Amino acid sequence: MKEIQDLVRPNILHLTPYSSARAEFKGKAEVLLDANESPFNTGHNRYPEPLSTDIRTALSEMKQIDPDNIFIGNGSDEIVDQVTRVFCTPGRDAVHALPPTFGMYKVAAGINDAAFRPLTLLPDFTIPVGPLKESWDAHSKILWLCSPNNPSGNLMDPAVVEDLIRSFPGIVVLDEAYIDFIPEASFLPRLDEFPNLIIMQTLSKGWGMAGVRLGVAYASPFIVTMLRAIKMPYNINVLTQQVALRALQQPEVMEERVALLKSERQRLERELAKFDFVDFIFPSVTNFLLVRFTDSDAVYKYLLTHGIVVRNQSYQPNAASCLRITAGLVEENDRLLAALEAFIV
Ligand code: PMP
Repeated sequence: MKEIQDLVRPNILHLTPYSSARAEFKGKAEVLLDANESPFNTGHNRYPEPLSTDIRTALSEMKQIDPDNIFIGNGSDEIVDQVTRVFCTPGRDAVHALPPTFGMYKVAAGINDAAFRPLTLLPDFTIPVGPLKESWDAHSKILWLCSPNNPSGNLMDPAVVEDLIRSFPGIVVLDEAYIDFIPEASFLPRLDEFPNLIIMQTLSKGWGMAGVRLGVAYASPFIVTMLRAIKMPYNINVLTQQVALRALQQPEVMEERVALLKSERQRLERELAKFDFVDFIFPSVTNFLLVRFTDSDAVYKYLLTHGIVVRNQSYQPNAASCLRITAGLVEENDRLLAALEAFIV
């Protein structure tokens, strides 16, 4: 394994980051005349704290991890791009991912002119370990692992994940976007064992704050420093920091909602299995189900006529004729099931 420093894109390693007014002066002052802000106190006339320190402190206490291991992004989407930018030299380096999976890994590779090397998951959505190990080389910088995986809903075998983190010659990013639905499976308590591991979580799923835009990366202090070096000076706005902090102080609200969504996912699974136009339901540990229908296009269009939209996944490898259905409120799921009850093949 190379030193992590040697994996960083050289110009980023040597970059002098922008020094914002709020980064230069961190103390308390009564008169702030340093940032060309408006002095009229509206609650949002000042720039936000650049490193989302209050949020990192709250997460640090909740997850029992040092704040220097935490980077906050404007959604995990932003972190996907930033990780690609830190490690991949455009036109030279490569990233690996295991479709069907989250689409932004490929888009970020495209934006940053990194080669995207996809290897399809096996039909049961487990990892083809041998072929994956054969596919990487000296240009391989990032391996994206999504666990639980979107859109399949399954958790990757932790022994396989550990083996891949130990054997991949670059950075492994474990995207735990759906981990709040199965928190005991998180790799976060083991972060210190793996210098090349980045764990991504988000407040968009279990925490119910997709509109707030807050993603979290957990990694070594060195990797966090690199992510900070390239971030926009004030990437997390004042409103996001306030709303996220308030929510993080009430984990019991999140836990209650997660429990309800898990039981609704199980109910959907049981009820959907009764329809003869449902071919297969992939086991899920998340707030959604990947369902193979005998004719997914017909079901998709039919549901739209009932005002219900689900996500078509038919174009994804190994997901032919599949729709991804998110567990909604009890009454929304009732409405879905009632509509399907009346569906005639
Ligand atoms: N990772 C996965 C696996 C996702 O499914 C999503 C959103 N669908 C994201 C990341 C993006 O999360 P965020 O809203 O924090 O950008």
